[in-house]
Amino acid sequence: MILDCAIIGGGPAGLTAGLYTTRGGLENVTMFEKGMPGGQITQSSEIENYPGVTGDITGMDLMMPWPEQCQKFGLKHDMAEVSRISKKDDVFTITKSDGTSIQAYSAIVCTGSSPRRAGFNGEEKFFGKGVSTCATCDGFFYKGKEVAVIGGGDTALEEALYLAKICTKVYLIHRRDTFRASPNTVKRIQENEKIELVLNSVPDEVYGDASGVNGIKVKNKEGEIRDISVPGVFTFVGNNVNNQTLIQEDGTFLCDMNAQGQVIVDLSMKTSVPGLHAAGDIRIQAPKQVVSAAGDGAVAALSAISYVDELLN
Ligand code: FAD
Ligand code: NAP
Repeated sequence: MILDCAIIGGGPAGLTAGLYTTRGGLENVTMFEKGMPGGQITQSSEIENYPGVTGDITGMDLMMPWPEQCQKFGLKHDMAEVSRISKKDDVFTITKSDGTSIQAYSAIVCTGSSPRRAGFNGEEKFFGKGVSTCATCDGFFYKGKEVAVIGGGDTALEEALYLAKICTKVYLIHRRDTFRASPNTVKRIQENEKIELVLNSVPDEVYGDASGVNGIKVKNKEGEIRDISVPGVFTFVGNNVNNQTLIQEDGTFLCDMNAQGQVIVDLSMKTSVPGLHAAGDIRIQAPKQVVSAAGDGAVAALSAISYVDELLN
């Protein structure tokens, strides 16, 4: 059997693409998601900018009903990691990490992005043992303790605010003295008495022993080292796009990409390859928001429906 559409990734973009392709009449649609559907927003402790959502809800709360809604219209979920998407003639081959493959007439790539490493000494050694990229997942381990947060974007500041509710103190370490985050979030940070700003400073080393992290040394612009004694260090220094599925056997990308490795799409989320769409954080100029990722998924799905209709009729 050849699928009408293969959706790779089950975050807000992939799930919305799943809803619109199935509800829009495509018969055989499978969403390949290597983990639980929901995407990176499920790591967020709060979301307050998704339209219609008011009150204190987590990213997990937001995403919980999405898969069930899609399944109602016939979307199938294959809990598998895709290693490659390739195309020959009019048919895509979706190769999974277990070596098996499935064919499809159209594909929508929604593999999103993943947390970047900051690159300081000890980061890899203590990753998962005191160094974390998820406050919702690991914050509770530091209840009643002090922690450090690295970064100056929306994620770092929002997660610092979340950690300040659990921890006695949060050291917010940022390499500049102005923030990338939205002004409202910066204001909340500045007003929070449990957050100490450590500005113009970069992490130099996280140190510890077999039981985990004991502290972090940070270096300021003058080259002075400050030793901050904390058992937990949270890094939020941006994301890399997950474009690995588009790399072909010869090392080239299946479709046109920009220099940052983001997929070049038009306003219909079409890539340079007919039948291949990209939606959400993986595409060029993505606003990196749940609402825009969901919007992209809907646009890509409508375009995929037209493409398949034309191809098969
Ligand atoms: P993702 O959410 O990244 O989903 C991609 C999915 O693809 C993942 O589930 C992944 O497992 C899967 N996948 C990847 N590769 C493969 C593969 N090879 N095979 C199978 N599956 C694969 N946005 C807001 O609008 N408001 C907020 O308050 C907000 N807060 C945030 C807080 C945090 C901590 C973070 C990290 C992000 C936040 N964002 C927020 C940004 C938002 O989460 C993203 O913009 C959005 O999730 C992007 O959706 P997506 O579907 O493109 O990708
Ligand atoms: P980001 O906006 O790219 O910010 C990354 C931060 O990390 C920057 O402050 C950067 O410093 C710093 N940084 C980068 N590399 C570093 C390194 N090696 N060492 C130390 N610091 C480093 O990433 P993000 O905060 O994850 O946000 C990603 C996207 O998601 C953004 O578009 C954001 O708006 C969006 N998002 C939105 C919300 C929301 O709407 N509520 C919430 C979360 C995320 P510089 O500032 O000096 O570059």
